[in-house]
Amino acid sequence: MSVNLLDFDTAGLAAYFAAQNESAFRAKQVLRWIHRLGQADFDGMTNIAKDLRAKLKNSAFVVPPRLVSDRVSKDGARKFLFDIGDGNAIETVFIPEDGRGTLCLSSQAGCAIGCAFCSTGRQGFSRNLSAAEIIGQLWQANRALGASPSGDRAIGNVVLMGMGEPLANFDPTVTAIRLMLDDNAYGLSRRRVTVSTSGLVPAIDRLREECPVALAVSLHAPDDALRDELVPINRKYPLASLMAACVRYLDRAPRDFVTFEYVMLDGVNDSEKHARELLSRVVGLPCKFNLIPFNPFPGSSFRRPSAGGVRRFAEILMEAGIVTTTRKVRGDDIGAACGQLAGQVKSRRAKNSFRETDAR
Ligand code: SAH
Ligand code: SF4
Repeated sequence: MSVNLLDFDTAGLAAYFAAQNESAFRAKQVLRWIHRLGQADFDGMTNIAKDLRAKLKNSAFVVPPRLVSDRVSKDGARKFLFDIGDGNAIETVFIPEDGRGTLCLSSQAGCAIGCAFCSTGRQGFSRNLSAAEIIGQLWQANRALGASPSGDRAIGNVVLMGMGEPLANFDPTVTAIRLMLDDNAYGLSRRRVTVSTSGLVPAIDRLREECPVALAVSLHAPDDALRDELVPINRKYPLASLMAACVRYLDRAPRDFVTFEYVMLDGVNDSEKHARELLSRVVGLPCKFNLIPFNPFPGSSFRRPSAGGVRRFAEILMEAGIVTTTRKVRGDDIGAACGQLAGQVKSRRAKNSFRETDAR
């Protein structure tokens, strides 16, 4: 059976090569061709012996998800749309910054968590992405963005904050992250790869053990009653257990804080009282807050608070000594802002039917 080499991290590729009686050294060379040089064609791998190339052509392929559109918004955010078959599409967004920019990757087609304010969640869940489809977004974006004149790659940070819940698709996500960190592939530091989760507590612990990278937790509410409504996975893993998992994570994390994301919903979670409750929730937990003014999408009933309202909320946190940033709304005109990543998902499961199959 033919295999997609994009599905393998270094260890996986070495094992595959060993099974073909080829050395780990050859596997490393091929890995470098694929990920460092963006080569998908075995014939282009010029320092690989011809007979090995022929063998690979018979048994393997390098196929990333098919890029179907590439649009740039007025503020420079660039959105890539990929067709992953069966009527499903996923999105990847590049946000340029002064130095190297940030690439926001999707981990699933749709999402089963079903957060009330999220366009992806509203569409339901279709399927998990394979490791090839996750790392393939980075592979494709790298190729499209090219390198700077000094040879630096355009992408300096990767965040798993696109469509889907990365920790509900654990193994493929971790395989892709290992490639991001590998010097023979993308060579990013652990601090520059961020997993964003709605709060799957056992999977946070597993990530800490297996592949700790920067962690962002989508908090969105200071108490269980409100969070149960906004982020339904809270009914399974309430705030106390989530906070305890964050504390445990910090032991092994490459950064000495957890980032809390907090979507600002007018009249729902944005009052002074909510800000003060949040402060009491995070006592003793080194953290930063990233406030995300709600990004509306067709059919959503929430509203974005006024800029003044967001500022007041931020000030309360900052006065208590917590570093707080407010996310700029970017890519709004091309539907590339947080939670607007809609792609197109053929939903086979209704929202709110999350089952924990991968987050052991
Ligand atoms: N599933 C993961 C990662 C993807 S969502 C998670 O929930 O963390 C990335 C971030 O965008 C999350 O913090 C999410 O809550 C936020 N988000 C989703 N929909 C949004 C919207 N409509 N406006 C603003 N932020 C949104
Ligand atoms: Fe899924 Fe994250 Fe959207 Fe919630 S916010 S539905 S977890 S993608």
